[in-house]
Amino acid sequence: MTDNSAAMKVVHAVCSHDCPDSCGVLVTVDTGTGQAVKVQGDPSHPVTRGFLCGKVAKYLDRVYSPDRLLYPMRRRAGVPKGPAGYGGVKGREAEAFERISWDEALDAVAARLKQIAAEHGPESVLPYSYAGTIGQLGYGSMDRRFFHRLGASHLDRTICATAGGEALLSVYGIKLGTVPQDFAEAGLVIAWGANIHGNNVHLWPFIEEARRQGARLIVIDPYRTRTAALADEHLAIHPGTDAALALGMMHVILSMGLEDKDYIERCTHGFEELREHALLPKHSPEEVAKVTGIAAETVVRLAVEYASCVRKTGKAAVIRLNYGVQRSENGGTAARAVAMLPLLTGSWKYKGGGLQLSTSGSFPFNSDALQMPELMQASELGRAARVVNMSELGQALTALNGPAVKALFVYNSNPAAVAPNQNDVLHGMMRADLYTVVHEQFFTDTADYADVLLPAPTFLETKDVQGAYGHLFVQVSERAIEPLGEARSNVRLFGELAQRMGFEEKCFRDGEDELIDQALRTDHPWFEGITRERLEREGHVALAIPANEQGEVLPFSTAEWFRTPSGRGELVPVPVFCAPVESRLGAGADSGEYPLEFLPRKADNYMNSTFANIPQHQRMEARTAGVLEMHEADAAARDISTGDAVEVFNGRGRIELRALVNAQVGAGVVAARLDWSKVGNDLSGNRANVNALTSERLTDIGGGATFYSTLVEVRKVS
Ligand code: SF4
Repeated sequence: MTDNSAAMKVVHAVCSHDCPDSCGVLVTVDTGTGQAVKVQGDPSHPVTRGFLCGKVAKYLDRVYSPDRLLYPMRRRAGVPKGPAGYGGVKGREAEAFERISWDEALDAVAARLKQIAAEHGPESVLPYSYAGTIGQLGYGSMDRRFFHRLGASHLDRTICATAGGEALLSVYGIKLGTVPQDFAEAGLVIAWGANIHGNNVHLWPFIEEARRQGARLIVIDPYRTRTAALADEHLAIHPGTDAALALGMMHVILSMGLEDKDYIERCTHGFEELREHALLPKHSPEEVAKVTGIAAETVVRLAVEYASCVRKTGKAAVIRLNYGVQRSENGGTAARAVAMLPLLTGSWKYKGGGLQLSTSGSFPFNSDALQMPELMQASELGRAARVVNMSELGQALTALNGPAVKALFVYNSNPAAVAPNQNDVLHGMMRADLYTVVHEQFFTDTADYADVLLPAPTFLETKDVQGAYGHLFVQVSERAIEPLGEARSNVRLFGELAQRMGFEEKCFRDGEDELIDQALRTDHPWFEGITRERLEREGHVALAIPANEQGEVLPFSTAEWFRTPSGRGELVPVPVFCAPVESRLGAGADSGEYPLEFLPRKADNYMNSTFANIPQHQRMEARTAGVLEMHEADAAARDISTGDAVEVFNGRGRIELRALVNAQVGAGVVAARLDWSKVGNDLSGNRANVNALTSERLTDIGGGATFYSTLVEVRKVS
């Protein structure tokens, strides 16, 4: 049927994948069949500007994939957990399960959770979720109410961004930054650990606009990303040494007197202490070069170009810092140090200057109304539950006591693939006495371990309200199509499960519209005039952030913007670089057993592990499927050539890949991308992925995961 012969409607939705861009999406639906026939970027959205990334432009392949999980299922009696349950052949997972009705599923899950809570205490139930959807309702609303009321362990959601988030809060008091549109006005863009072209692509046209007007783009990244390849300059920093480089830049800026004294006086706190620290000889360009691998003269040139940008070009320098920097042991400190740079140069004063890590803190959604933490008091515990760090899931499932975890409820996430220290995680998930419920769209690696599997909808099939962490527009995502099969949203799942548990509070009957109204109910001035009705009418609405006399929103251009206790940009405590234990300079390298720094990197065309099972997306990532990228010096030292099977290993695990000797990484660094274990990229057939090698060691700030502080050795498989 063509567009001409069918009655079509266009529905405004919002991409809810874990991406800073939060695109407005127009979904064309055939009203005769109820099927979505086209997705496109909303041309009226000032950041989406009418296009979608390569991942979501093909979204209907995912929505209507023949592999979608469409019905509730339970594990067949006697069938073991894990791949052995279906013979390990991808595509045959359903053989391990039998179809049941939603009533049967909800009754069974409620009965088992009640039994476990009665026998072991409610804290023996562990929810596990992250940003499989970042809509307010899907990410955290009815689910939190449910687990609070139950008295389940509280999950500390640290796997992605807490080190950087807390770093930003410690310096600025709020997660806010340069708006993407203003990058077009920059005189210099530094992409620091930011693969903008790969996973923040709606910022790219603004950067290109700036470059057309003379701006340079410098990328600081240990991996030669797509963005690095397109940049004017790529600085391949050693992993985990970003704090040292930022301190080296400060050293140059302060020793040459390039700081903005007036701005520092008006807007910062702790300058003298930072100055004294940054000028220590250990932060000289020569010393910083030894740590970072970036030549001393380059450190000087970078610092001077950055700090002199306004004087030399009439335009300010801007930094796009991204979360890769903070996924290392010293990552919180690194993010703090980088975030301090525009406080020294005063680049916040200019349109196109400043820094962006996240704008998520700008959206004053009423999360207390959505999540109702007071329900913890109504639980059997009568108090706040214990906290379990999601970056330590392996330990939680294998070693935690008082009580041990007896039930794991997974939604919005795929921990069997994405959690660090995969072997411990899988060992825990295999436990016969662990009851596992998984709410999912596909038979993921995690679904292989489920006792009960529940079908989840995509963002086309639910209604939600969403902010962003890369721009300042609130949006409502309308349900474009009916949920496929029997998929049920998080709101519906946890509301119905609460009723099966006997939780009588009225809040468990709230529907999507009521929850959206609650999320928007606040007297915060930045939400002034933003209502559900208006969002439904207009699709997206800009936050009511105060502009200056020229109508410009310039965060941190004056002291009024800061939300720190001092009311200024905080330069203390001073950032101190410590080499990660698992790095070439750390104690983990002393034995020489595991001398290579490993980057378990993200694919450009996947979203963490999402999309990794879709053939169209796999084709776009074919170049690095099952591949370990190595520098020629490291390959030669091990007699390895491109195409050789290699074993990558450390004390936690091993994975077999094919070597690809190239210049994507520097000497001493190897890289492989995150994938589902079951897509078969491990040549040994061991069903491992890059997280077989990563550790549960936490970041210095925020208790985050340290994926990029991982040492390994590599040898040829004979
Ligand atoms: S993944 Fe990001 S860039 Fe792609 S459509 Fe979604 S929000 Fe936009």
